Amino acid sequence: MYVRYDAQVTSDAADARSLPAGADVVVVGGGAVGVSAAYHLAAAGVGSVVLLEREAALGTGSTGRCAGGFRHQFSSRVNVELSLASIPLITGFSATHGLPLDVVQDGYLFVVRDAETWPAFQAAAGMQRGLGVPVELLDAAGAARLVPGLTVDGVVGATYCALDGIADPSGLTLGYATAARRAGATVLTGVSVERIVTAAGRVEGVETDRGRVRAPVVVDAAGPWAGLLARTAGVDLPLEPIPRVVLVTGAFPGVPVRRTLVIDAASSFYFHREGDGVLMGMGDPGEQPSFETRVDERFVAEELLPTAIRVFPALAEAAIAHRWVGLYEMTPDRHPILGRVPGLDGLLLADGFSGHGFQHAPIVGKLLAEIVVDGAARSVDISSLGLDRFASETEAEAHVV
Ligand SMILES: Cc1cc2nc3c(=O)[nH]c(=O)nc-3n(C[C@H](O)[C@H](O)[C@H](O)COP(=O)(O)OP(=O)(O)OC[C@H]3O[C@@H](n4cnc5c(N)ncnc54)[C@H](O)[C@@H]3O)c2cc1C
Repeated sequence: MYVRYDAQVTSDAADARSLPAGADVVVVGGGAVGVSAAYHLAAAGVGSVVLLEREAALGTGSTGRCAGGFRHQFSSRVNVELSLASIPLITGFSATHGLPLDVVQDGYLFVVRDAETWPAFQAAAGMQRGLGVPVELLDAAGAARLVPGLTVDGVVGATYCALDGIADPSGLTLGYATAARRAGATVLTGVSVERIVTAAGRVEGVETDRGRVRAPVVVDAAGPWAGLLARTAGVDLPLEPIPRVVLVTGAFPGVPVRRTLVIDAASSFYFHREGDGVLMGMGDPGEQPSFETRVDERFVAEELLPTAIRVFPALAEAAIAHRWVGLYEMTPDRHPILGRVPGLDGLLLADGFSGHGFQHAPIVGKLLAEIVVDGAARSVDISSLGLDRFASETEAEAHVV
């Protein structure tokens, strides 16, 4: 069963508790990244960890509105490495924590219809294979066999990794929150952080709508709002909120049997089976930064649905059962911003995941704990993901869905 953002995702009435005056680490934001950070920090024994979420429930930001996909198929090495470290934490979550999590590994299929971009997909697949990812190159017939009903006219090639899949965002968020509490962290909802308190180049804590919490370390895990929070400490993040619509259909004849996540590379249209129907979305070529979360009906009617029916014609018979808009947190190079802030001791960034932060949340929490405990990230080399990289030209992630 797949739980969505409109489900009740509460945190044990944590907001009834009083705000601690101090902590060793304050994590701001109760999405997948924040709860993973709180768990890994507490489990690593950093001392008292307090997570502050301003909404009444956890996981109501980008996390609760996301498609739940995880994949090894990225164009940049560091994103593949993050996936290689993070996906086992998703697939092994239930076994590790004894908590339920809906996970299915029916793969991701990237379908490429233009000869110009196919070499880049082949090169990316070569890099992925070099890192041990079992990605396959398919022709049009192979793609059609995998996803019966998919339009394969004009397909020049496709890439498929059977170890990619889908997991329940709310389940992972609630699961890490539970694991964090078990490890001793305090998880509070209904507390809005108004500013990060700094003095003499150091973080001293946070000012909230319910008072101050002193802390030498603050993690900015505020998702699309991370830039607003960082600015209160005088830190500018190159981060833009981009609204993305998701549609979920009811049952229809020809609904895919498997839950393979299919991406039409040229249009960025994607879909996967969800319940009896299909979950789908697509980037808008004219998209503008905004915190707007109303559905753009013109885009849905004139661009998304016609593309959907072109790519998977059986969708012509489907009725839309649910629709919502969530925010991507986009950086210029579509890579996250992870780690310390040069010139400001104690502020840790875990932001700008550019549409793939759900799947990387588990390892990002672990990396943050390593930075706090050991002074540096160990599990993955994230030296290319610091805020200082934007001073020069950076290489962009090309497989942004
Ligand atoms: C439509 C859509 C589809 C997506 N599909 C995928 C996918 O298939 N796979 C994938 O990996 N990723 C996907 N993503 C991206 C993914 O959802 C995000 O990268 C990820 O959820 C980010 O998690 P987060 O915890 O950083 O942010 P969020 O989940 O947004 O959490 C941030 C939290 O901080 C809180 N907050 C903000 N400011 C404050 C403050 N001042 N004080 C207290 N609390 C504050 C917010 O209320 C929010 O709960 C998708 C995103 C969208 C919008």
